Amino acid sequence: MTANAALKARRDRTIGPYSPLFYDEPLQFVRGSGVWLEEANGERYLDGYNNVPHVGHANGRVVAALAEQAATLNIHTRYLNERVVDYSERLLSTFAPRLDRILFGNSGSEANELALRIARQLTGSTGVIVSDYSYHGTTITLAELTTGLRTREPLGPHVRTLRIPDLDRDQRPEAEVLAETLAELDAAIASLLDEGYGVSASLFDPLFSTEGMPRVPEGLVAGIVERVRRAGGLVIADEVQSGFGRTGGWMWGHDFAGMTPDLVTMGKPMGNGHPMSAVVTSEAILDEFGSRNEFFNTFAGNPVSAAVGEAVLLEMEAEGLMDRAKRLGAEARAEFDRLAATHDFVRAAKGTGLFLGLDFAVDGVPAPELAKRVVEGMKARNVLISRIGRDESVLKVRPPLAFGEAELPILLGALTDSLSDI
Ligand code: PMP
Repeated sequence: MTANAALKARRDRTIGPYSPLFYDEPLQFVRGSGVWLEEANGERYLDGYNNVPHVGHANGRVVAALAEQAATLNIHTRYLNERVVDYSERLLSTFAPRLDRILFGNSGSEANELALRIARQLTGSTGVIVSDYSYHGTTITLAELTTGLRTREPLGPHVRTLRIPDLDRDQRPEAEVLAETLAELDAAIASLLDEGYGVSASLFDPLFSTEGMPRVPEGLVAGIVERVRRAGGLVIADEVQSGFGRTGGWMWGHDFAGMTPDLVTMGKPMGNGHPMSAVVTSEAILDEFGSRNEFFNTFAGNPVSAAVGEAVLLEMEAEGLMDRAKRLGAEARAEFDRLAATHDFVRAAKGTGLFLGLDFAVDGVPAPELAKRVVEGMKARNVLISRIGRDESVLKVRPPLAFGEAELPILLGALTDSLSDI
């Protein structure tokens, strides 16, 4: 038995076999630096997948800020702390002026749970609209609206789902696809109103990441926002994957999508691996919620988290990571487009910035087995990527934003070779 197989057996006997692992033969990383990871056997892997270590694995600025603040003071939020306020101001300055208040959490799930709670209270309604293939977190509320992962909880009676179209798959005229989707949304809203749930919120990832980054019709996002607001609901943008410059050139996925939500939730890259999350909203919404709820979260927004979050923003700025994501992302996307055009089993290239994919299909039928072979082929070439989408037929290439000029040819070379194997 290999060392990794032995560890996997011990893991199965403790954590259990249900918590998913990547790859037929899972990897065990023991060290990380920048965009490189070292496996227990000493081999180096290029990280083309992980968005949590946003500014790089074991980033020096982040580690120093964490250590320094942890060695000075860490305390909950019922005392004044300048660092927490400094960080809040810095983060809020990246939003449109209307989004000028922040509530902290410790995970993306907590942020989404809180955003839904705020929406429920403000609207007096419980109805929620989500995409029909999405993931937003682990709580009961979120499990009841999870459509993109196996859960035992049935969809809540107050939940309606919307199919997000992909123009790379649907060959009909764009206007027809748009009209059909918005009509489905109108029907979903009407049914929530008819059954007395009302509409409290829509909850979407502006990039539709889990859905497989569909190429949506122009006007879809605006149409959703307009209809949800008209029905009295609030618009929540789940930026756990799409935020912090991921799209290249835009700090927030909702800016990329051209809309201003009422509530923005974020997590994953926010703390570069330190567990932290937030809900950003407007003064009016926070006042309404805050005046009726004494909201307190022991660990959320503590000085160590603030120091870490601040270091992430400073590192992004110092290294020009958003611009780099835009530049390298455009370069990579051009190559992905070329690969799509030259391989008949690749239907389309997907994504923007440093979040890219290739959609595999044979005779118009999704081909998840080919996507899986490429993911394993990349692993054999020491590059980490994964798959997304309802059919798991879309490659998920979403490296740390610290991904550099030197690494791009390595990733693209491995991808070209892995496609050639098929
Ligand atoms: N929203 C989205 C879009 C996510 O991708 C995830 C995590 N995969 C979550 C929410 C939940 O975040 P967490 O695991 O930090 O609770």
